[in-house]
Amino acid sequence: MALRVLQKRSALLASRCAELREARVVVGAAIVRDGRLLAQQRSYPESHAGQWELPGGRVEDGEKPTDAVVRECVEELGVPVVVGEQVGPDVPLKKDMVLRIYAASLAEPGGDEPEALEHNAVRWLTADELPGVDWLPADRVLVPALQTLLN
Ligand code: C5P
Repeated sequence: MALRVLQKRSALLASRCAELREARVVVGAAIVRDGRLLAQQRSYPESHAGQWELPGGRVEDGEKPTDAVVRECVEELGVPVVVGEQVGPDVPLKKDMVLRIYAASLAEPGGDEPEALEHNAVRWLTADELPGVDWLPADRVLVPALQTLLN
């Protein structure tokens, strides 16, 4: 009997841990247009200013990761995106967070150009240009997967 109770509690704990892990996901968008990938240059914090990343940010409580991708792109670039499959594996970040990238495309291809609303600049990069960019460390890990996406 006691064993059953323990097993139940441990299953509950495992599912709660899974929920907490999900809450610590940082999502990013690999937006591709005409064979190029959109990257943006950070302006903050000072330690990362000038480095490049894919648009994105933390998933909010109760939010689906794919919905967070759409929200972050509107906030950071001023444009909606259509979200596809995950690109590459989850990449560990500091403090138990992971970076999860999704393939994406502009929802309105002939519409507004993506703008750097919270960053220094945006760039559209070819597959060959990706390795030479000064990426944030976690984004750099995904360069081979991003090249595969572009090729
Ligand atoms: O943008 P925000 O500060 O919400 O991102 C949370 C964390 O995820 C930061 O540590 C940031 O450096 C990291 N991040 C990243 N690559 C991205 C987006 C965010 O490493 N493409």
